[in-house]
Amino acid sequence: MTDIQPLTLITPTAAMSAGVHGGRAKCLQRLVRLDMPVPMTVALSFDTVRSIAQGHMPDMNALLAPFGEQPFLSVRPSSLDPDWGGPSAVLNVGMNDARHARLSADIGVEAATAIYLRFVQSYAVHVARLDPDEFFLPDVADADSLKAMLDTYEFETDEPFPQDASVQLAEVLRSMARAWDGTTARLLRQAKGAPIDAGLGLVVQAMAMGVGQGECGSGVIEFVDATSGLPKIVGRYLSQSQGRETIRDAEGAMYLNRDDRGPSLEERCPDVFAQLLVFGDLARKKLREEMQIKFTIEHGVLRILDAIRVQRSSRATVRIAVALANDGIIPREEAVMRVEPAALSELLHRQVDPRAKRDLIVRGIAASPGASAGRIVLTAAEAQASAARGEPCVLVRRETTPEDIRGMHAAQAVLTMRGGVTSHAAVIGRGLGLPCVVGASDLSIDRKKGVISGPDGRKFTAGDLITVDGTTGQILAGEAPMHEAALDGAFQTLLEWADDYRDIGVRANADTPADAQAARNFAAEGIGLCRTEHMFFEGDRLGVMREMIFAEGSDDRRAVLDRLLPMQRDDFEALFTIMAGKNVCVRLFDPPLHEFLPSDKAGMRDLAEQLALPMPEVTERVNALTEYNPMLGMRGVRLGIAIPEIYDMQARAIFDAMVAVGKAGVDISVEIMIPLVSAMREVELVKTRVDGVANAVRAKSKTALNYRLGVMVETPRAALRAQDIAGHAEFLSFGTNDLTQMTYGLSRDDAGRFMSAYVQQGVYAEDPFHTLDVEGVGELVALGAERGRMGRKDVILSICGEHAGSRTAIAFCREHKFDYVSCSPFRVPVARLTAAQLAIASKVKS
Ligand code: PEP
Ligand code: MG
Repeated sequence: MTDIQPLTLITPTAAMSAGVHGGRAKCLQRLVRLDMPVPMTVALSFDTVRSIAQGHMPDMNALLAPFGEQPFLSVRPSSLDPDWGGPSAVLNVGMNDARHARLSADIGVEAATAIYLRFVQSYAVHVARLDPDEFFLPDVADADSLKAMLDTYEFETDEPFPQDASVQLAEVLRSMARAWDGTTARLLRQAKGAPIDAGLGLVVQAMAMGVGQGECGSGVIEFVDATSGLPKIVGRYLSQSQGRETIRDAEGAMYLNRDDRGPSLEERCPDVFAQLLVFGDLARKKLREEMQIKFTIEHGVLRILDAIRVQRSSRATVRIAVALANDGIIPREEAVMRVEPAALSELLHRQVDPRAKRDLIVRGIAASPGASAGRIVLTAAEAQASAARGEPCVLVRRETTPEDIRGMHAAQAVLTMRGGVTSHAAVIGRGLGLPCVVGASDLSIDRKKGVISGPDGRKFTAGDLITVDGTTGQILAGEAPMHEAALDGAFQTLLEWADDYRDIGVRANADTPADAQAARNFAAEGIGLCRTEHMFFEGDRLGVMREMIFAEGSDDRRAVLDRLLPMQRDDFEALFTIMAGKNVCVRLFDPPLHEFLPSDKAGMRDLAEQLALPMPEVTERVNALTEYNPMLGMRGVRLGIAIPEIYDMQARAIFDAMVAVGKAGVDISVEIMIPLVSAMREVELVKTRVDGVANAVRAKSKTALNYRLGVMVETPRAALRAQDIAGHAEFLSFGTNDLTQMTYGLSRDDAGRFMSAYVQQGVYAEDPFHTLDVEGVGELVALGAERGRMGRKDVILSICGEHAGSRTAIAFCREHKFDYVSCSPFRVPVARLTAAQLAIASKVKS
């Protein structure tokens, strides 16, 4: 790119781009093209600024030529993305004794002296890098204070304050160019996503004073409310000012709109105000954005100094994108691309007010987004009691087990000391949309005393108020101020547009009618995973479940299961009715049975009473069910093979429910999924029994039953043997939680303990339970998909582990032409938007 000029006078036709001169310079050119009254400006390219940092100054005469005999200038940074920051602007370059004298005659001695003082101070601190404590602005801007400051400058540098505008400007440019290369500045911008070699451009602009005779001043104006995204004129105007004070000190500011401080800008300068409205509208239409306009009024004449994109909340981001598309300013596709999917996740949940002071107790893993406050409770029973009293509570546990499910339902938030992003608390929390922080291992808990202690020794007792911020992973003392969830019309509209571009299905993992309703509200295309075991922790079922586990022999077990059958049937009826017209994939029972048994003495005693058995017998039976490695033990399809009555009962409940809802006119497409499969024969055996139950129900009800039977691929062997397995399965759903656990040989419940050490030292780029490991686990999934298709050409492929809502997993599934992803209901909107963005991006590429 040899034709890039080191210095470019900004005119409508000058060759300029944001990638060469920075966003501010390019935006100024756009404002010039729109005929806005922008003062004369010269842009310095990234390369020019790089050379300046290395000591090679551009031709200063050429730079100063457009600004006349006595240049008076401002210099502002212009990086590619304004969010990357940059050195502070320097105003009033060219101020010297001669200009001070002229200005004194023009605007008065005090005003001129104040400007000179501010320039010397800014030059001394930012350019000459002198001690700021020696250069504070005096209360009175008079000849003595100016002399004192100029003397201090000379004393500190052994040179008089430079009077030559060219010297001043060269030094300002050099200091700004070097500041960009400083380590802190570099780290700060890299943290905001800037590349290592991000460049800095600079813009040198004729000063528009804002101080003088007649109406003079400066201000900023926006045409949208940055929090709500609704149209609104907001801003500040301060007369006789250069703008800096406007930001620092609102006292005495002349507000744009009338308030008790005095007349509004509109009343003082109706013409200027009307012009600003026109420019605002023009900027919105032509720059295709809501812009904040920075302006100066000089002797009643408006000057536009700059315009930047309005900083905005997530809610406003969505509203603004939709409004711009609705007004025909941007296409819908672009509106969809403009919203960061993570911003949606913020809108779905209450959040801690970003401006609130945070009294941090401890930090853990952010496992389920949103924030809630409540009183500490240490057991599920206390959580239920608290809910019954109408008192919001936070359930604090070392880790949760399925027994805690009712306590979790009752709590406003959950905090655990152990576990990672796929631990029980995390999975359930996300499913319920409940804020959850797990793995807060710096917290200790003394259950006997009912006390938890933070890493700094602070103690909190049951009943104390805390806030769980599941978005950041922070636990805060007290009740933090919150922003409510904001699901408005714009949110729905944006997602409907996203669905028009998306080319992969999005379903929800939903276990209960409440989850299913959430899934439906978020427009999931169906349920991709219903973990049926969660239904057995509800209401009085746990007791019956325990009786079933303790049953002696198959007949007794069947008798107890007969009592569970109507309960399961009711569950499925409710689920199918809510999901009418959609697909529901029901996973047969998966967890090890002992998860349903009590783990402490009090629980064992209750159980002994309930079963009318002596305590020692109960203890012995519970111990007998204990496994060394339950996640690799008697669970999933292994239970289905060893104790087939359980799956028989579930299949029966599913088919009975299908018949019942079918009679009520509900159309439902049901899929039955077998978990933890590792061999084709397991599928054959289960399929035979399930088909047998279906035949029996068909014969009895005289109803056609259409269902599909499929397999959850979550063991490495199932992925490797997918070709055989697909011969007996109409769909394969990859359970990447267990698949990650087994591929890495890494316990999903214990990995949280050392994961941060692993990630910090670069052993793993990311926590593989959080971000799909495309290289390893992904290879198994891809291989399983390919082999599955070899076994059955039209096998339906999906992924339902916790990764499923993430960008990495959706991109992976699109690449391998999967049919859908299935994630927790509250991630469905995020997944819909992400999938649309990936589809749009790939269309642009191809
Ligand atoms: C999985 O293993 O990925 C899965 C979805 O099942 P669960 O988390 O219930 O083990
Ligand atoms: Mg699993």
